[in-house]
Amino acid sequence: MRVIDADVLVTGRDEPPIEDGRIVIDEASGQVESVGTQEDVDDPSQANGDVAHEQYPAVTPGLIDAHLHLTGARSMDPMQWVIESSELGAARATADLRDILAAGFTSVRDVGSETGLGLRDAVDQGAIPGPRIYTSGQSISQTAGHGDSHFLPYDWVADSDRGIGTLADGPDECRKEARKRIRDGVDVLKIMTTGGVLSEKDAPDQSQFTDAEVQAFVEEAHRVGIPVASHAQGAPGIKTALRNGVDTIEHGFYLDEECIDLFEETDATFVPTLSIMHRLIEHGADHGVPEYGLEKSREASESHFEAVERAYEAGIPIATGTDFIGPELVPHGENALELELLANEVGMDEHDVLQSATRIAARTVPDDDVGTLEVGSRADVLALGSDPLEDVSAVRDVEAVWKDGTAVGL
Ligand SMILES: [Zn+2]
Repeated sequence: MRVIDADVLVTGRDEPPIEDGRIVIDEASGQVESVGTQEDVDDPSQANGDVAHEQYPAVTPGLIDAHLHLTGARSMDPMQWVIESSELGAARATADLRDILAAGFTSVRDVGSETGLGLRDAVDQGAIPGPRIYTSGQSISQTAGHGDSHFLPYDWVADSDRGIGTLADGPDECRKEARKRIRDGVDVLKIMTTGGVLSEKDAPDQSQFTDAEVQAFVEEAHRVGIPVASHAQGAPGIKTALRNGVDTIEHGFYLDEECIDLFEETDATFVPTLSIMHRLIEHGADHGVPEYGLEKSREASESHFEAVERAYEAGIPIATGTDFIGPELVPHGENALELELLANEVGMDEHDVLQSATRIAARTVPDDDVGTLEVGSRADVLALGSDPLEDVSAVRDVEAVWKDGTAVGL
């Protein structure tokens, strides 16, 4: 047992922060034993000297990055992504996982990598340190879609299982590809219903996959109780995803009124990924990002930030996701940037931002005991040296992290 007191305790639940809060965690079960004010929750360390007792300026649930890629990439050149071995990627991603955990992120959702499944299992087995990983394995794209490597001959892409995504066309192939992922044991299915920035020959506003194709993915995923995430940037492809039952919209550059209505009708979650956009615009040219990627980012950036403001005003659930991959431009361990952009650029209230990074981010994964500190939830806890409700950058002031009740070596 361990008692953690906090001047400010954010539980992640839809409730105000608790002043002079206390949380008691049980290291044996890895769960939260009790949570409340110091007045209401007994301090077991008073009666038992073996119980640890600590005090911090602020405590929150462990943070969640709901959109990243555990590919271990170290370059922004898409050609490098396909020619480097997955073993090299996995080895580098092992180092990335340590950085993510040390930054206070105790869960991540990997939405497109060859290496996510192996890394997830290695972390679960205790073989390597890391956050809890929910992974889609490789994403699924249509031919000529965002997940296709347009710069390579078609046969090379079609005959290879390598890379961040695989191809499927027509409802039958989509169903089969979904079933192959489910057979691999993925936690979420990742599809792409629009073009994107870092794919050469398509564009964010172009819609990809038909209604029937998206339905096939959603039916198969929901049958086994896993969510479907869609890379969707332009409004037509966002609508294709939402009207056919996709659970999370990734990126969302252009949201019109109909998109907002569909979000409300379907209760889907929005994962904006402002961080990669911010980094591409600010520093992309210095890091080998292809010119087509820079140009498309510049075109979309303003409307992307506007779309997030609009979604926030409409009360749509917004989850934090960086879309970080690993190179110096978009490095793991810097995942707190998304919280800063939501607070400082979009103008979200700090407490709302913390909810986005905890309970709301947890909506994107098929587990209901992460993202909040309540009796019986997983004891994923972040202790901070200053108050994130004053300035959300305090989430970088990490003093201690526990995952499943166990202290993480920083
Ligand atoms: Zn991504």
